[in-house]
Order: sequence, then C-alpha cells, then structure tokens
Amino acid sequence: MQILLNDIIKDNKVHTKKGELADYIPELTKANPNALGICVYDLENNVYLAGDFNTKFTIQSVSKVIILTCALMDKGREIVFSKVGTEPSADPFNSIIKLETRHSHKPLNPFINAGAIVCTSLVNGNNANKKFRRVLDMIRIMADNPNIDINYHVFQSEKLTGNTNRAIAYYLKGANIIEEDVEDVLDAYFKLCSIEATVEDVAKMAAVIGNKGISPWSNEEIVPPNVCKVLMAIMMTCGLYNASGEFAVNVGFPAKSGVGGCIMSVVPNKMGIAVIGPALDDNGNSVAGLKVLESLSQKLELSMF
Ligand code: GLN
Repeated sequence: MQILLNDIIKDNKVHTKKGELADYIPELTKANPNALGICVYDLENNVYLAGDFNTKFTIQSVSKVIILTCALMDKGREIVFSKVGTEPSADPFNSIIKLETRHSHKPLNPFINAGAIVCTSLVNGNNANKKFRRVLDMIRIMADNPNIDINYHVFQSEKLTGNTNRAIAYYLKGANIIEEDVEDVLDAYFKLCSIEATVEDVAKMAAVIGNKGISPWSNEEIVPPNVCKVLMAIMMTCGLYNASGEFAVNVGFPAKSGVGGCIMSVVPNKMGIAVIGPALDDNGNSVAGLKVLESLSQKLELSMF
C-alpha cells in the first residue's frame, strides 16, 4: 500500500498545475497550490501517509458531513429532512436560485451551502458558540485529536466576504426554514468551515463513518449506524456538488470535497481516505485529488459498483 500511494502521488502531482486556488475567500489564496498529500486509514488501524501529508488546510465543506451528523443525532431524521432535501443539485454549491423556485423553499440537500446552513441551525445549542462547540467536539472525537481548532484568519476572511451565504441564510429565515437567529447560525457555519486539520484527521473521521460509526481504534460507537448510512448515501449522490455523478462513475465510493482542497472518502467496511490538493477545478473540487482517488480506486478495485 505504501509504495502504491507514493507512486500515485508522484504520478498525479502534475495535475496540481491544472487548477486554481479558491480566491473568493481571500485567505485561501495563501495555500500552496502544488501540495498533494494522502492518508489511508484502514479498519485494522493501519495508517498510510504519502506526499505532502503534513499540509494543514481548512476543511471547508467537509465540515458539512459532521454538521449533518450532529443535526441527525440531535433532531432526528424526520425533522432534519422536513427542512432540507436529499436530492443532488446540478447547480454550483453556493447557488441561491432553487430556493425560490422550489415550491417548499427547502434546500435540495445538506451538502450545498443552503442545506448546510439549515443543518447548522438544527444542531443543538442556543447560540453560535454552543453550536460550533457541539460540532467541533464531534470532529475532535471522530478524528481522535483533541487539538483540532479553527484557523482564525480564514474565519475572519469568510465572515468578511460571505455575503452570498448571508443572502442564502436570510432568505431561508424569511421562508421559515431557519427558525434560529441568522447571525448566530452564520457565525457557527463560518467557524466550522474554518476548522483546520490534516489528511490523517480527516481519514480517521471517514474510517469511523465507514465502520458503521464505531471507532476502529477504541471500538466505541461514536455515531449511530443508521446515521452513517444516511451520510454515505448523501456523500455518494451529492458529495462533489455538480460533479457527483462523474465521481460515482470514475471512482465509485462516497466522498465529500471542500474548497480548501480536501476530499474525504469512505470505502464502506474497508477504509477512510483523505487527500489534499488545494488547486481546484471549476466545480470547486481538488483537480489532483480527484485524479489520485481515481487511480487508487482503479488499482485497488475500490468502486462499490
Ligand atoms: N466556506 C465555503 C463557503 O461557504 C465552503 C464551500 C465549499 O467548501 N464548497 O462558500
């Protein structure tokens, strides 16, 4: 496995040149566009690291998986899916257009910004800090790393420039989908996007999801198995925004990307995988990260189909 990962990183490094850093959050332009790293964490607790695995990044939309985890654990499936749908979207992740045109005004799914903002409103906690802490604590437990925290500069940058997210959240408040204070919900959402991690942290979180919610290192149940099923189903259908179908064809397992350049992937009952490659394609997915996962899936025959 180690040699395979080293080779895959080396062979795909060239693809980092084909993408661009996310620049709509100014602080993200400080990342190294040529970084490429991977961690595989299998369910026997073997950890494999290759390339720039020490790179720290903000998890951005990967946090949406754990926000949904907490919303489902705190409020249950019925309430969560009365306010957000489970259907893929063909529009970009921060699109606002369907909110008005859909009869119910419900965001299409929990992994576009509108849906994640609704899920943040559903997480337990009656103010921004409590909601943030609820999800941060879950991330720390799932990654088995109590030192995970936010990158304050990225948080400030998100908050200063997050006007589309603000528009989405106020629209949803007007449509009675968000019941809580909008600024509290946005503050928690921006903070959660700004959580800093490494591929090892994210691969361990993915391994928990792929192991029916049981941590492979302690054998404790961290997330209920029925929640993991929902997470994987939505990662499979909506995890790469409007490129989810292509990913299902080329790679074939559940994943979630973020504009920091990380892609979290779950191979059910086998392993958690995380890649980092901050240069993105037009859909906001890591260009080289996608190629790495494609190679790995082919070489190890990991597609679920
Ligand atoms: N913080 C980003 C935003 O809200 C997250 C988006 C992403 O990673 N796709 O726009």
